[in-house]
Amino acid sequence: MNIQAVEIVRDHSAASRNVGCRLCGSRLRHTLVDLGMSPPCERFLQPDQLDQMEPYYPLNVLVCDTCYLVQLKEYMSPETIFSEYAYFSSFSTSWVAHSKLYCETITGRLGLGPDSLAVELASNDGYLLQHFLPLGVPVLGVEPAANVARAAIEKGVATWVDFFGVRLANQMVGEGLRADLIIGNNVLAQVPDLNDFVAGVAILLKPEGMVTLEFPHIERLMAENQFDTIYHEHFSYFSLLTVDLMAARHGLRLIDVEELPTHGGSLRVYLCHEGSAWPRKDSIAQLLERETRHGLGEMSTYASFGYKAQRSKRDLLAFLISAKEEGKTICGYGAPGKGNTLLNYCAIGTDFLDFTVDRNPYKHGRYTPGMHIPIKPVDAIDEAKPDYILILPWNLKDEIIQQMRHVAAWNAKFVVPIPFVTVIDPSEYEK
Ligand SMILES: [Zn+2]
Repeated sequence: MNIQAVEIVRDHSAASRNVGCRLCGSRLRHTLVDLGMSPPCERFLQPDQLDQMEPYYPLNVLVCDTCYLVQLKEYMSPETIFSEYAYFSSFSTSWVAHSKLYCETITGRLGLGPDSLAVELASNDGYLLQHFLPLGVPVLGVEPAANVARAAIEKGVATWVDFFGVRLANQMVGEGLRADLIIGNNVLAQVPDLNDFVAGVAILLKPEGMVTLEFPHIERLMAENQFDTIYHEHFSYFSLLTVDLMAARHGLRLIDVEELPTHGGSLRVYLCHEGSAWPRKDSIAQLLERETRHGLGEMSTYASFGYKAQRSKRDLLAFLISAKEEGKTICGYGAPGKGNTLLNYCAIGTDFLDFTVDRNPYKHGRYTPGMHIPIKPVDAIDEAKPDYILILPWNLKDEIIQQMRHVAAWNAKFVVPIPFVTVIDPSEYEK
C-alpha cells in the first residue's frame, strides 16, 4: 500500500444534490446512526499541522423510507472534497489476486475477445484491467486522479483521466466506444451523483453487455455492527433491495449476485439492459428474500442500529477506562480510515492509546485526524511492550495476530473492538 499527494477536483455543483434522497429524491426523515462530528478520515496530520484548526463535518447517517438507501448528505462540498492522498490498489497483493481471478472468470463467462471492450470506472493504477491484456481483451480505464492513472498507462492500460457520468459516457459513445463489460469496484459508494453515474453506465453499455459492481453490503454492516466503516467519502450504503430499485430507474436489471468477504462483506452484482437476453439467476430472488426476512425493507430495523453503535462505544470506553485504572499501557495497531471514525466517535486519544503503528511508511511521523494519536512503524510495539494492543483494522485481525504472535513473550493481549469488545491472548489464539 502506498499513499501519495494528489488533488482531485470534482467538476460538478453540489447545489442540486443536498435535498432529498440521493437515489429517489424522497425527503430524508430518518437517522440510521449519528456518529457526531468527525474530521475527514484520511487527513493524517504532519507535526506542524497539530496547532492548526482542523475541519470537522457531521457523520449523521440517514436512511430513505422509500428506497432504503443509507446515505450521508454531501457535507463536504465537491470543491472541498479533494483527497490529499490516493490509494494505489496494486500495493495490496490479496486485492490484485482477487482481481486477476475475476478477469479470467468473466472473460470466459461473457466470451470476451479481441473485438470486445472492458471498461473499468475508477480504474485506479490498472490493478485490475492489466489482467485482461494477456487474455487479449481490449481495455479502457476511467480514473480521475491523474497520478494513479499515469501508473496505469505505464502498465499499458489505456486510461481517461476524468469523472464518469452521463457527460463522459456520451463523449465516449460519440467516439465510437461501447462497452461489453463495465466494472465498478468500490466506486458506487463514493459517487456523489448516483443517478448521473448509473445513467452513464446505461449509455456506455452495449445492448447485450454486462455490468459488475462491487460494494460493501449494508446487511453485513448492520448485522456485524461495522459502524466504523462509515466515513465522509462513502456517501451511500446499499442493500440488494436498493440496487434492484436503482437498476430499474435506469433501464437496467439484476441478473446475478455473489457474496464476497472483502471489506467486511461485499456484494458483486451483475446487471444488464432491461431488454437483453441474459436470464436472471436464482441468486437474486434468494438474496432479496433473505434481506426482506432480515428486515431491510422495514424502517424499524434501521431505527435500532444507532443503539448498537452507542452500546459499542460504552463497552469499548468501559474496557479502556478499567485498563488504565489498573495502570496498563495500551497502543493501537493500524491507522485505517475506519479506525479514525471509531477513535473520534468514542473520543479515544493519547489519554488511552500511547501511539498506534502502521505498515504504510507514508503515515509514519504523522498523527491521526482529530484525536492526534502518533503513528509509528510496527516495531515501536516491540520497544514499548504495551499490555494491550487495540486492533483498528479488525477485518485483518487474523493476519495481524499471526504476524504479532511474539507479543505473547511479555503477556500482551489484543483487543478487537468490532462487532463487540473482545480480548484475545495470542498464545491461545486459533483463528
Ligand atoms: Zn430514496
